[in-house]
Amino acid sequence: MKVTFPRMGTSWVAFKTLIETLGVEVVLPTPVNRELVRFGVKHSPEFVCFPFKATLGELKSALDKGADTIIMAIDCGPCRFGFYASVQERIFRDVGYKKFRLVPLDQADLLDFGWVKTLFEVAPDSGLFKYTKFVKAVILFLKKCLYLQNIHTAEGVFRAYERTQGATTHIVDKLINKLDQTNNMNDLRKFQSVILEDFAKLDIDPSRNPLRVGIAGEIYITLEPYVNLDIRRRVGEMGVELYQSLSLYDWIAHKLHVNFHRKWLEHVAEPYMPLDIGGEAVWVIGQYIENAKAGFDGFIHDYPFTCMPEITARTIITNKLKKLYDLPTIFFSFDEQSGVEGFRTRLEAFCDLMEARREHREEKRDKMGPILSQAGNHKYYGNEFRKKCLKIVHKM
Ligand code: SF4
Repeated sequence: MKVTFPRMGTSWVAFKTLIETLGVEVVLPTPVNRELVRFGVKHSPEFVCFPFKATLGELKSALDKGADTIIMAIDCGPCRFGFYASVQERIFRDVGYKKFRLVPLDQADLLDFGWVKTLFEVAPDSGLFKYTKFVKAVILFLKKCLYLQNIHTAEGVFRAYERTQGATTHIVDKLINKLDQTNNMNDLRKFQSVILEDFAKLDIDPSRNPLRVGIAGEIYITLEPYVNLDIRRRVGEMGVELYQSLSLYDWIAHKLHVNFHRKWLEHVAEPYMPLDIGGEAVWVIGQYIENAKAGFDGFIHDYPFTCMPEITARTIITNKLKKLYDLPTIFFSFDEQSGVEGFRTRLEAFCDLMEARREHREEKRDKMGPILSQAGNHKYYGNEFRKKCLKIVHKM
C-alpha cells in the first residue's frame, strides 16, 4: 500500500511520520505548482473553492507517482469542505484513475475516535506491538505538529529583524528538513531547543521597531505558500513582525477540545458570530479583536475566492469591527488568477499606511500623554514560545 495526502504547507512532515510509523509507505505529492493547479482547475466545478482545485492537482501528482490510497479529511460541513473527498474521488475515476481507494478521515470531532478506526484500516497490523506502534505514531505526529508551529512562529518574529534577506528562510528550510529526519523520541524531546538555538544564531538588528501584524484566514490558504503567494515571507521581508496563531497543531488541539486559546477567541467573537459557520471565520473575528486590543499595527485576512465563511467574516470586520477597533486590515482573496505584482503593490501600500498611522499615533501620544489605552502592551503578545523568541531578539 502507498498512501498519499495533501501537503498543506509544511504539514506533510507530521502526516508523513504518522503514516510511516504505522509501517505504511508514503508517496508525497509534488508541491503545488502552476501545472497541478491547471489540472485542478480543468477538472473541478468552476465555482468550487480554490483549495479543492489545488489539492486535486496535488493528489493527481501522487497518483501518477504510484500512490494507491488517498487519505482525505472530511467534515460534517457547514461549508463545502464536507464534499471534497467524495467529489474528488468521482473526478479521478471519471478522468481515468481507477486503481486507487480514497479513505475519508472524519475530523468533525476527534474525541469520537473515528480516526483511530480509519488509521487501523489504512495500516492493518495484527502484530504483537500493534497498539504500541499506534501510540508512538500519534505521539510523534503531535510533537511534530507542535514543532512545525514553533518553527513558523519563530519565522514570523525573526524575519523582521534579519540583516541578510533570506537568512530566516534558509533556517526554516533547514529546520523543516531536520524535523522530517528526526523520528526518535529522545531527539524530538530536545527539538524546541534546536529551533531556538538555530534562530539565536541569526544575524539580527535588535534596534528595529518593526510593524506588528496579525494574519488569519482559511486554513489551507494560510498554510500553503504557493497558493497564498508566499505571503508570510513577503510581508516579513518588508520588515513586518507577523503573528499567526493558526497552525495544524492549533487545529488538532481544537478538534480534541483542548485548545483554550480558540475557546477564548470564540468567546470574544460571540457577539458578532455566535456559531461556527465553517472555515476559520469565528476565530478570524476573535483574532482581529484580540490583535486590535493588543495594539497591533495591522491585520491580514486571507481566504479563497468564493469562500462563504471567510467572506462573511470579512463583511463583519469591514461593516462592524472596523468602526469599533480601527485596526487597519487588508483582505486577500486568492484563486488561480492571483498574480504577484498587484499583490506586492497592495502589500507595500498597506505597510506605508501602517507606518504613517503609527507615526501619527506617536505624535498624538507625545502631545496628549498615553491616550491610547492599548498602546505599548503588544510587544510580548502570543504564546510562551513566541515570547521566548522575542526575548532572544531583545536579548533579555
Ligand atoms: S472554508 Fe471556504 S475554502 Fe474551505 S471548504 Fe469551506 S468554503 Fe471552501
